[in-house]
Amino acid sequence: MLRAFLSAPSGVAGVIVLALILAAAIIAPETLSSQATTLDLRSATQMSSPEHLLGTDTLGRDILARLLVATRLSMGLAFASAVLGAIIGMTMGVGAVVLQGRARSVALRAIDALLAFPGILVAIYVGAIIGPGILGVVLGVGITISFSYARVTSALSLSIINRDYISAARISGISALRVMTRYVLPNIAETLAITTTVAVSNSITAVSTLSFLGLGVQPPAFDWGRMLTEGVQAFYVTPAAALGPAIAIAVSSLAFGFSGEAIARALNPVLWARRAGARADADARAITTVVHADSPIATASGQSVLEVRELSVSFPHGHSTFKVVDNVSFALRKGERLGIVGESGCGKTTTALAIAQLVPYPGSVSGSIKLQGQELLLDGAQNGHDADLNRLLGTQLAIVYQDPLSSLNPALKVGTQLTEASEIHGGVAHSDAVRTAIERLREVNIPSAEVQLVRYPHELSGGMRQRVMIAMGLMIDPPLFICDEPTTSLDVTVQAQIMDLLAKLNAVHGSAIILISHNLALVSQNTDRVLVMYAGRIVEDLTSAQLLGGGKHPYTRQLLASIPDTSRPREDRLEFIPGQAPDPANLPTGCPYNPRCPLAFDRCAVERPPLRVQPDGRRVACWAADAVAGERTTVAS
Ligand code: SF4
Repeated sequence: MLRAFLSAPSGVAGVIVLALILAAAIIAPETLSSQATTLDLRSATQMSSPEHLLGTDTLGRDILARLLVATRLSMGLAFASAVLGAIIGMTMGVGAVVLQGRARSVALRAIDALLAFPGILVAIYVGAIIGPGILGVVLGVGITISFSYARVTSALSLSIINRDYISAARISGISALRVMTRYVLPNIAETLAITTTVAVSNSITAVSTLSFLGLGVQPPAFDWGRMLTEGVQAFYVTPAAALGPAIAIAVSSLAFGFSGEAIARALNPVLWARRAGARADADARAITTVVHADSPIATASGQSVLEVRELSVSFPHGHSTFKVVDNVSFALRKGERLGIVGESGCGKTTTALAIAQLVPYPGSVSGSIKLQGQELLLDGAQNGHDADLNRLLGTQLAIVYQDPLSSLNPALKVGTQLTEASEIHGGVAHSDAVRTAIERLREVNIPSAEVQLVRYPHELSGGMRQRVMIAMGLMIDPPLFICDEPTTSLDVTVQAQIMDLLAKLNAVHGSAIILISHNLALVSQNTDRVLVMYAGRIVEDLTSAQLLGGGKHPYTRQLLASIPDTSRPREDRLEFIPGQAPDPANLPTGCPYNPRCPLAFDRCAVERPPLRVQPDGRRVACWAADAVAGERTTVAS
């Protein structure tokens, strides 16, 4: 980290100047006070000479000595103001983001409104209320700086609050305060470091300005602002008396700016751990072991792990609302593997978010979701998290996201992320949690598990990161895994390894799995049952064996026909579904699929078909389902 800091020219320049300022602040008041404060009218207003390098002021005091002695008070006030501003500002910014729903919007707007006040006027106002002196300066400048600090902190926090790794932390039941301190603040520290140095830089100017205006440091004490006031009055006689403090203010402000840039580089672990990352990539390429497990057998009966009834997710649209998930009902048995497929925007991921209680504001969830028999939607709606709900989600549900890099907290080591949930929820001792983490990493075929614990996510390959995500889920041995496009960002070989791994976990741990994917071939080969979703609704619910035999809903059939199949004659054109998935805010009347459906007839345009059970057990939402013969379809991998 130090190497990264010093590798930046700005860092070297900033450090040298700050070191000189620090030395002056420590040494000068002890050695030069006499020259800086003793009046000698016979030597007044002298120009530069070997005895007085910057000359003397109107009272015969050495200007250079006064500049150096004033460094301690100037920097002390600037630091105190910046620290006060940072504490107030970070508390305001983080506090606003921690709030949920409308309260968060109001708090953020309030911070924006505070920024509209001219900072120096606020400082003068506060300084005038408190009275001239050091306390008024620190409070005035600190409060002024806190507004911009709060805005930066809230904006940065908002930019990452919906990242997958924070969602994962939230469903792990980690408290809002801990999420902010462990997951949000470390990941915005880089920018906050720059903000802090800029805050110190601004404080130097603001403190000097207040002193210049007579509201700050009062005689006989003096800082650079006070010296500037006195120097300006004699500018044409001894210009150094005004130029000296002005240059000191400018140089020290620049030094903090340069240092901030260098600190930002040093705090970025990607920069200083690049070599370690290269070693990890080499290790990752060496992985050749693949887990092959017997295909899991779905239980034919058993208690439901998950029961979803009439689930709807709505978002406001003008004066009304639109549904992105509409009246979805299904159940999942212990150990069952359920696939959810459909085009982008069909509602499959939103369904998963609703189950995990992660639908973002201002979305609203209604219906019933029972996880292990316990209702998640209190009073029929998503009411935020309480301790019991956090514990339930944190121990009964794990999610594996599409992008493993964004799913892991880049600021925490792999080991910390693996052990955190079990330590918090299970009260497991740290040493036991580490032992379990090593076992889980081995279980998901991570080589040198002990070594990986002390690495950061960016030091691992994509496949290893996805395995770590699965291992993280296994730490709590949940009865339900939700895998949202878990292999989309991985190459075909690693994709197969991950699917083998999920199959093994299903067989060994008996975890039920919801596999969300747009890849119908992948889903049909790795699940027991499939939900086909379109326009936020289930349009067909069938077993994977039935899917291989062909769908009864025209949408399912067209999805199957559009899967690339190398066994087809080369002259056969690859089918595609004409048109686009409808806008949820503007669905067609009747059956939502009717503008794209080759079998549509008059009734389809006016009446929406219900999801009905067919004689073979599948559920289909289509007026023509009875007329559609199950056409055998080959599903290629
Ligand atoms: S209800 Fe009509 S439009 Fe809708 S899928 Fe069936 S046949 Fe097509």
